[in-house]
Amino acid sequence: MKRLIILTTSILCICFLIPIFFTTSFQKKEVNAKEGENTTIITPNNYDYTKYNTIKLLHTKTGQVEEIKLDEYLYGVVSSEMPVDFALEALKAQAVVARTYTIYKILNNSNKHEGADICDNSTCCQAWISKEDRLGKWEEAKREENWNKIVESVNSTQGKIITYEGKPINAFFHSNSGGTTEAPINVWGGSDYPYLQSVTTAGEDAYSQYSSEATITKDELIQKMKEKYQDFEIDFNQQDAIKILEYTEGNRVKTIKIGNQNLSGVEVRTLFKLRSANFAVSIDESNVTFEVTGYGHGVGLSQTGADSLAKEGKNYEEIIKHFYTGVEITNL
Ligand SMILES: [Zn+2]
Repeated sequence: MKRLIILTTSILCICFLIPIFFTTSFQKKEVNAKEGENTTIITPNNYDYTKYNTIKLLHTKTGQVEEIKLDEYLYGVVSSEMPVDFALEALKAQAVVARTYTIYKILNNSNKHEGADICDNSTCCQAWISKEDRLGKWEEAKREENWNKIVESVNSTQGKIITYEGKPINAFFHSNSGGTTEAPINVWGGSDYPYLQSVTTAGEDAYSQYSSEATITKDELIQKMKEKYQDFEIDFNQQDAIKILEYTEGNRVKTIKIGNQNLSGVEVRTLFKLRSANFAVSIDESNVTFEVTGYGHGVGLSQTGADSLAKEGKNYEEIIKHFYTGVEITNL
């Protein structure tokens, strides 16, 4: 009898426990799936990209807003932002960068231009030029071939954007890094983006036309400095009247002492209209000369770097992954 009771109890227990076990394990699975969903990377599918088949482009000169097909808009951006004689894979990288930049702007700066997604001004958004104006700037014999190359760069990468952890990246780009790109914190302050690291590209120094020199008289320098710093003083007889104190990880000037003031390289770049913050300074009898390497802020993709990598045989995906750390190339 005792045995029977034990057996019945055991069976009852098993009958109770099995469902409980199953339920909890199922519940656990469900929770996991939910957690998974929550922590899963937001895929580009979570965004409604179909609404970006056409975008609203603000023409800054006329103030008009034009509805334009995304790819058609990109023809005007790529042909405006990158020289057409660059390698096709570099142009394709530029097309993907421009598409990503556009989507990022739409998602993150939706209130910047009232009634428009993006404008045609390079200092504000991205440069854009109409097909008619673009063709007019090329010699006639080259027009068709050049335009076809631009169209191919956009069409052959159709719908492709650059994502980091599933989200479109802030795809900064510039003309020439001088060999090493810059972390955004050294240019604009604020916080860094994990995908915008300082990277080195061999072959950039071959683009010597991007290096430059800016000479100003000592008097001009004093005048410009005094406009900004009223108590500015400098004694050019002192050996370290102008002295670079510190460099960034991207080889640009981080801090420079000019007379009794310490400035960032970016401030000096703006003040004296230099092409980049990668410069050396020399002083002679009456002038101050800045030897400038590279062109642009130096963050993200370097266009000449992209061209040099393409000429080494790298494809556009490899080029993009060289300049943006840890990214994926995803279909819209
Ligand atoms: Zn704009």
